[in-house]
Amino acid sequence: MTGSHNMQSVVTKALIYDLKKIVPSGVFVNLSLAKISRWNIGGLADVIVRPQSPEQIRKLREYFYKNNIAHVVIGMTSNLLFSDKGLLVPCIQLGYEMNKINIDSNIVTAQAGAWVPKLAREVQKAKLVGAEHICGVPGTLGGLVYMNGGSQRKGIGSSVSKVVSIDSKGGYVTRNRVDCLFAYRSSIYQCRDEIISEVVLNFEDADSSSLVRKEMLSILSSRKKKFPRKIPNCGSVFKSDPSAYSLYGPPGKIIEDLGLKGYARGGAKISEEHANFITNIEGATSSDVIFLIELIKERAFSELGCQLNAEVKYVDEHGCICAADQIDKNKAKF
Ligand SMILES: Cc1cc2nc3c(=O)[nH]c(=O)nc-3n(C[C@H](O)[C@H](O)[C@H](O)COP(=O)(O)OP(=O)(O)OC[C@H]3O[C@@H](n4cnc5c(N)ncnc54)[C@H](O)[C@@H]3O)c2cc1C
Repeated sequence: MTGSHNMQSVVTKALIYDLKKIVPSGVFVNLSLAKISRWNIGGLADVIVRPQSPEQIRKLREYFYKNNIAHVVIGMTSNLLFSDKGLLVPCIQLGYEMNKINIDSNIVTAQAGAWVPKLAREVQKAKLVGAEHICGVPGTLGGLVYMNGGSQRKGIGSSVSKVVSIDSKGGYVTRNRVDCLFAYRSSIYQCRDEIISEVVLNFEDADSSSLVRKEMLSILSSRKKKFPRKIPNCGSVFKSDPSAYSLYGPPGKIIEDLGLKGYARGGAKISEEHANFITNIEGATSSDVIFLIELIKERAFSELGCQLNAEVKYVDEHGCICAADQIDKNKAKF
């Protein structure tokens, strides 16, 4: 075993040798998730593979399928809370590579690793309109489509015309927008074992590209004022579901009304700047964050009758991903 945890890892020297044959310059062993993840939380990842092409993803999946090896896919970790036990299964990460963007008239074709703020800027520079709401969303296009992420009550799904993914056996799957089942912060990819490799988006011609740029700058500046920027965090912890929003207002206000703004547990703190953010003020563990998530959820329900649902996802040491408020509590104790 290569991992330095005491727990059973599936990552052997033979496995690493095989992975290096498929992705010669993209295999990284024993990476600290606390160092590479957005929240700066998590133990060691035994092996992270950063493929450079869809074909490499296809070969990896084929290999994992044939050898019955569980694995997990991540983007730039902007929506992920990793276990302090790390990752004992191989992890495929998109974002460092596979980030090509091509714009032809109104059609934008981008690889899943494309950095979303860069994509939004390219769309504006091509004199198109419609990507402004994603200009401040830090993550990859694959992660954005998986989450149907966006801002200003919008989701990327409405601009998608086609998504190409790779299934667990290494086969390509192509879906049009309707088949992606986009809903509020949700897509079909959350219940399919597929890795998104390429996305085709459609944007309208802009009447004025400079007005689009102005709108993007105004979105970025209001985000700068509202959100904690320098302290590690994972964006909004709870979903601002439209139906709950109309009854109770945004999650940040609910949490503030509960008097929990600034409340801390271990190294994790409910942000003073925006109560729907949990910041890692110093050496937070995943159990610190989970404690705060559970506390908010219980108080919102018992005091206001409001059911908050986590947007942030938890990744356990076996690579299983679930909403961070749906973890089997006994399993999550470290
Ligand atoms: C400061 C801050 C502000 C944020 N603001 C917003 C916002 O305004 N709106 C918003 O929607 N989100 C926001 N987020 C959350 C986050 O940026 C988005 O959810 C983003 O789309 C996640 O992309 P990622 O590449 O980091 O994915 P990750 O966090 O790495 O992964 C998220 C999920 O997507 C899956 N996934 C990733 N890539 C693929 C792929 N290629 N194929 C299949 N599945 C994949 C992963 O398995 C995981 O379940 C914010 C986060 C931060 C830190």
